[in-house]
Amino acid sequence: MNETMNAAYLPGNSTVEMREQPVPAPGHGEVLLRMKASTICGSDIRCIYHEHLGKGPEGYQGVIAGHEPCGQVVAAGPGCRRFGEGDRVIVYHISGCGVCNDCRRGYMISCTSQRWRRAYGWQRDGGMADYLVAEEKDLVALPDTLSYADGAQVACGFGTVYEGLEKVGISGNDAVLITGLGPVGLATGMLCRAMGAPLIIGIDVVEERMKLARDLGLCDTVFAAGPDNVDRVRELTGGHGVERAVDCSAHAEARATAIRATRKWGRIVMLGEGGDVAFQPSPDMIHDQKTLYGSWVTSTWKMEELVERLVRWNIHPAELITHRFPVEKASEAYALMASGRCGKVAVCFDEELER
Ligand SMILES: [Zn+2]
Ligand SMILES: [Zn+2]
Repeated sequence: MNETMNAAYLPGNSTVEMREQPVPAPGHGEVLLRMKASTICGSDIRCIYHEHLGKGPEGYQGVIAGHEPCGQVVAAGPGCRRFGEGDRVIVYHISGCGVCNDCRRGYMISCTSQRWRRAYGWQRDGGMADYLVAEEKDLVALPDTLSYADGAQVACGFGTVYEGLEKVGISGNDAVLITGLGPVGLATGMLCRAMGAPLIIGIDVVEERMKLARDLGLCDTVFAAGPDNVDRVRELTGGHGVERAVDCSAHAEARATAIRATRKWGRIVMLGEGGDVAFQPSPDMIHDQKTLYGSWVTSTWKMEELVERLVRWNIHPAELITHRFPVEKASEAYALMASGRCGKVAVCFDEELER
C-alpha cells in the first residue's frame, strides 16, 4: 500500500485544492477504508464549495471533503467488534458521540455533543481521497448485489429521502409531487416508484434534470416550474391535488406549489435545505387539514433497512450517476455539480471508475 494519497480540499472560492497526504492509520474502534465511490451532495456546493457559509453542524473545518463515502475495509484498528478486512461498507456520514439521546436513537445527525459530533467531509476527513479512516460504529454493511456507487448515495442522499418518505408514508394509493429534480428529487422518484406510487409528477427548471427524470422513468409527468403549476397538478389528479408532496428544491415558489398542490388531508415533507417560503396557513394548510413535515438525514438503523429494501426492490441508486471522475479530477467533478447540468456526480476509484 502507498504511504501517501491524493486528497481534495475545498478552499471556498469555487475551486478544489489537491494535496498529497500520508495514508492515515486507524485508531481504536476505527477502520481504514480503501475508497471506492464518493458522491457529491448539494450541501457540499451550497455550504462549502462557493463559500464557507455553514455554521455549527454545517461548518466546514478545512478537512478532506466528501460526505457520501463508500469503500472496502483494508485494516481494522484494535477494538473493532464487527467489521474487518475485506468488508464492503457505507459510512453514515456523521460520527456522533454515541451516548447522547439522539445518538442512542441512531440519529447521529442530531448528536448534541459539541466535542464529539463530527461529520465526515465537514469536521473530520471525508471520502474525497484514496483512503478514509472511519469509526466502526458509523458503518453500514453493503450487500454484495449493490455496487459501491449505489452505497455512496445511501450515505446521505437516498438515506435522507427514505427517511422523509417514511415520515409521510408512500403507497400505491398516492399521487406524489416532487418539486426539484436534482439528485435528491430523482432519488425521491426512484424510491416512490419502488414503494408503489402510481402517479409521480416532477417539476424543475433545468432541462438536463427534467430529461433525466423522464428518460429513467422516475416521473410520469415532468413540467417546467411556472405560475400554472398548481392548476396543472390538479388537472392530473381529478381536480384534487396530490396525496403527497416532497420539496427537494429549497425554492420559495416551488415550496408553495408543493403545499398548494397537495389535496385535503395530504402530507408534505420538506427535504431541500436553505432558502425561504411564504404561504397562508388558513387556506393553504389549516382548512384543508394538511400536515407539513421537516426531515433531516436519517438514522443508522433506517439506513440498514433502506439497504435491505434496495436489494428487495432490485433498484440501483447508481443509475442516477451521470458522470464519474478519478480523484485527481475532483475539481472538474465539483464544477460540473455546481453547474447543475447533470445528475449525480461521483468521484470513483478502482473498479468503480471503469464502470
Ligand atoms: Zn449530503
Ligand atoms: Zn451524541
